[in-house]
Amino acid sequence: MVVVRVAPSPTGDPHVGTAYVSLFNYAFRRKHGGRFILRIDDTDRTRYRADSEAAILRELAWLGLAWDEGPDVGGPSAPYRQSERTELYRNACEELIEKGAAYRCDCTPERLEKVREEQQKRKEQPRYDGHCRERRLPEGPPHVVRLKVPLDGETTFMDGLRGAITIAHKTVDDQVLLKSDGFPTYHLATVVDDHRMGVTHILRAEEWINSTPKHVLLYEAFGWPLPKWYHLPLLRNADRSKISKRKNPTSITWYRESGFLPEALLNFLALMGFSLGEDKEVFSLEEFVNAFEPDAIKTSGPIFDLTKLEWLNGVYIRQLAPAELARRLRAASPLARDADDRKLLATIPLVQERMKKLTEFDELADFLFRDAAPAAPPDLVPKGRTPAETAAMLRRARDVIGRSDLVPATLEAELRALAEAEGLKAKDLLMALRFAVSGKKVTPPIVESMCVLGREACMARVEAAAARLGG
Ligand code: GLU
Ligand code: ZN
Repeated sequence: MVVVRVAPSPTGDPHVGTAYVSLFNYAFRRKHGGRFILRIDDTDRTRYRADSEAAILRELAWLGLAWDEGPDVGGPSAPYRQSERTELYRNACEELIEKGAAYRCDCTPERLEKVREEQQKRKEQPRYDGHCRERRLPEGPPHVVRLKVPLDGETTFMDGLRGAITIAHKTVDDQVLLKSDGFPTYHLATVVDDHRMGVTHILRAEEWINSTPKHVLLYEAFGWPLPKWYHLPLLRNADRSKISKRKNPTSITWYRESGFLPEALLNFLALMGFSLGEDKEVFSLEEFVNAFEPDAIKTSGPIFDLTKLEWLNGVYIRQLAPAELARRLRAASPLARDADDRKLLATIPLVQERMKKLTEFDELADFLFRDAAPAAPPDLVPKGRTPAETAAMLRRARDVIGRSDLVPATLEAELRALAEAEGLKAKDLLMALRFAVSGKKVTPPIVESMCVLGREACMARVEAAAARLGG
């Protein structure tokens, strides 16, 4: 039975790294059955942000990474918040002290600071100096509890991707397990919960590798069986540094609000750590789940390439059925939200091939949904024509539109015939009409756009442009 978990800390915007780690855990659980737990690691009260948990739940739900156990989105919470489990951790700490695997420490911040300064002077790695290890302080006045890391020897553990990892105890600090505020640190709470929740496989970010020996020592002290660890390669900025806000958007909310589709983001994140074959870059979540094996996760740090994600998002947008794209657009764009259903559906074939992000809809299609005719720029006048001539030509085009049945193929033929009669290149006439109708130089195909816009609006805009030319 596979039991996996993701354990985000509610310290800010929901991080794309959380989506990445969740996806791999989700896939593992889907492939093998079992349970996928969402646990909120909220024991660091200094970094806690009240709105963060709800945002994490919302974005994981948006991505469709359903968890089997954990807090409900917008509903009452299952007991998977560490801040609600402090009694467990305190009891676990007492057990460790009795077993001689942990000890109380009442060193003041001033003393610890002095120790650190002296170590730095001697060019040693700063760490707790063991002052309280053998003092056997009684329970009572403010103290912390520290892990009693053996002075000699080493800890070896298996990583599913890297094999055996050995870390010498002299490089491992006597980690604080319980803080003086009564809250556990990450290390204690994680081990206690992973054990109690029956977690069998821990897929988490690579940055925790150096903490794992502390966790192994804890499992051993408690006499609990070890889970299997898989440390996933970190997402990286283009310069290979760990992905950071300064160099890349890192908030899942940003990706949603910027018009990315959840299926594209998942496909992209899967590619970061897994290969479905040499050239296979586009695949569904189902395909990923079926192919997924944790042992085959890549270990090289993947570069988070926003341009590639945009390309992939465009691929997914083009694959959507028009009615489904309309639904997504309504959720992503204020313009689409208020749009008439038929008009929105009629617009989709004009924009679907041209969008990399849902949010581009507004820029592409606003002229079809706004009431006012946008002011056409002066480039409206074709080369070699005067403004007055152009105004007269636009009015003849307006009359053509008035008589047309406004089916794209017919309207196009009618406008081409007019251009010929005017001694103009069709493309110059269509450009002038594009400016008149949209106020822009670049739009979806203009004849189709005019058919969507409708007779009245087209005629009014063409007339307004003619009038502005002083005709
Ligand atoms: N709260 C930790 C994080 O957000 C969990 C790490 C782990 O999975 O053990 O990275
Ligand atoms: Zn101490």
